[in-house]
Amino acid sequence: MKITASNRLKNLMKSEIRIMSIECDKMGGINLSQGICDLPLAPALCQSAQKAMEDGINHYTRYDGLPGLRQAIAAKLWQYNKIQADPEKNIIVTCGATGALYATCLALFNPGDEVILFEPFYGYHEYTLAALDIAPVYVRLEPPAWKVDMEKLEQVVTKRTKGLLINTPANPSGKVFSRSELDLLADFCLRHDLFILTDEIYEYIVYDGLEHISPGSLQEIADRVITISGYSKTFSITGWRIGYSVCEEGLSNLIGCASDLVYVCAPAPLQAGTAEAIRALPGSFYKDLGQGYSLKRTKLCAALEEAKLKSYLPQGAYYTLADCSLVPGRTSKEKAMYVLAKTGVAAVPGNAFYHDGGGENLMRFCFAKSDDVLDEACERLRGLKL
Ligand code: PMP
Repeated sequence: MKITASNRLKNLMKSEIRIMSIECDKMGGINLSQGICDLPLAPALCQSAQKAMEDGINHYTRYDGLPGLRQAIAAKLWQYNKIQADPEKNIIVTCGATGALYATCLALFNPGDEVILFEPFYGYHEYTLAALDIAPVYVRLEPPAWKVDMEKLEQVVTKRTKGLLINTPANPSGKVFSRSELDLLADFCLRHDLFILTDEIYEYIVYDGLEHISPGSLQEIADRVITISGYSKTFSITGWRIGYSVCEEGLSNLIGCASDLVYVCAPAPLQAGTAEAIRALPGSFYKDLGQGYSLKRTKLCAALEEAKLKSYLPQGAYYTLADCSLVPGRTSKEKAMYVLAKTGVAAVPGNAFYHDGGGENLMRFCFAKSDDVLDEACERLRGLKL
């Protein structure tokens, strides 16, 4: 039988991150390309997930998740994000933030609709839109400030534009959207009647005393914001698939319906474990998380600087984009392969975050690694002779 991918899938099969991870494995290198946080888990998580299994919480949950988890998320949303959410009406527990975004797009948009995406973007954002035949419309942000150019934004709006996708703190740039920028974006979305989808998966990883601001906390746009987040990064449980969406009740019902269709529910005992950890962990856990990553950020950025790969200091999340103009190679892929061959350290070629040949002089390095692995990677990178 002849095997051919569907037209949609054909366009989605080029994940540079996957390719670099495979190349890295082949040579036994250190993989700083993928955003896997291999930090130890808080004991409360595993103990309560295990207890939930023993207690028989092993079945489908309601389409919007276990009540205990929705209540814990609602309390945290009020405390940390300044978002008022009713756990019975506004929160859908999903299979990761990825599942929340897919369900949101499936619920709200039609093929041919357009959604604005800031570039450099996180690949799954673009792929999710593409998988549903929603057209991504790109607005480029330039380093080092990654500031939003409102004029550029105005220029791309058409009658088909239905939404704006924000990622704060952002992968891969590390940009943390400021209140004044969010105010301008809020005004923009009100004038053009757009939904705002905001992916806040790195919400607790912000540096230099910056504040994470959730667009959903801005009253004037609260009814059009879909806040998407989860615990993959905060609790280092990317394989548990615990995420959620938060929005106005009518939208929430639609997203719940879509999430039920595609994923049914997030793993039940892991929902219970996450709920217990949210309740049990003290505020210091979240502070320590940011501080721990801040030290890793300093370490990696200094090593990259020494290697003549000048990196843009991220304001949040756990990636840095480095300028690889001095690395031999015509494309960012060739440059990333050169660095991998010379040092055994894998990073993502910058063009993975741009739609039309951008990012050729950038590489993304992830510093969510245990200290011994990161130290070894830094040592190897410092040895890169450019
Ligand atoms: N959003 C962003 C911006 C990410 O970088 C990632 C992970 N790389 C995700 C979402 C995935 O989140 P989840 O594991 O909850 O699906």
